Amino acid sequence: MLPPMSDVFQQALKQTLPLLEEIRDGLNPPPQASRTALARLRKAAVSRPRAVSLEQSLPTHPQVWTWETLEQAILGCQKCPHLVKSRTNVVFGVGNPAAELMFVGEAPGADEDAQGEPFVGRAGQLLTKIIEAMGFSRSQVFIGNVLKCRPDMPPGESGNRKPRGEEMATCLPWLREQIRLVKPRVLVALGATATEGLLGESRPMRELRGAWLDFEGIPVMVTYHPAYLLRNQSITEKRKVWEDMLLVLEKLERPITPKQQRFFTQPAQ
Ligand code: URA
Repeated sequence: MLPPMSDVFQQALKQTLPLLEEIRDGLNPPPQASRTALARLRKAAVSRPRAVSLEQSLPTHPQVWTWETLEQAILGCQKCPHLVKSRTNVVFGVGNPAAELMFVGEAPGADEDAQGEPFVGRAGQLLTKIIEAMGFSRSQVFIGNVLKCRPDMPPGESGNRKPRGEEMATCLPWLREQIRLVKPRVLVALGATATEGLLGESRPMRELRGAWLDFEGIPVMVTYHPAYLLRNQSITEKRKVWEDMLLVLEKLERPITPKQQRFFTQPAQ
């Protein structure tokens, strides 16, 4: 599918400008492109938006994304000026773009913002352990967030804040497009905030987890966020998450080994 026109224009400009400058500066006989023409091109290059926003593109020309054009657009997203200002990286997501299983968190934290990859901090390491205990590697599943930028913090404050409803609503179209392209057989929503952002569901986690919900025809399992498990070390809560993951494996028709079945029912050796 063709990339949006402004992307094509930007690409062409990017490739043409250095060539024209090389010709101007290095060739004899002297330049074919005047400084005025170059200046005009340069102005056009900086004043045009780098990516077409989903809203701009939808009404008249429904956008059909490829993985590459979607990634480029998400990485250049300017929809939330306050987050554009505060972010180090836009966190697109990581893993297999054709994964059968996709995990959705709420938003990048400080570690994820610094590295440009979701779930790399302490909660992320626990998520990786859960994924591996299920028999997958991180690269076999897809991991993304409802909000692609780290929520900004008041000056001088460290830590992370929850994404606001309007921030998630603004960013959700990107996640929706990612889900449409990945076409996972199962989605796992991690925690109440991600569930609210993805499904608009604000019932308490104890009511939502452990049962199948739906996102555009894809079964969704809601479970506790790994950060919750780090805060609450009770084995009962860990077991609940594992039970949810066993339901996911069942839905994916993956064989469940006796070891996986027993995971939290026997004391550790
Ligand atoms: N928590 C999330 O919800 N997402 C991340 O990427 C990291 C922590």
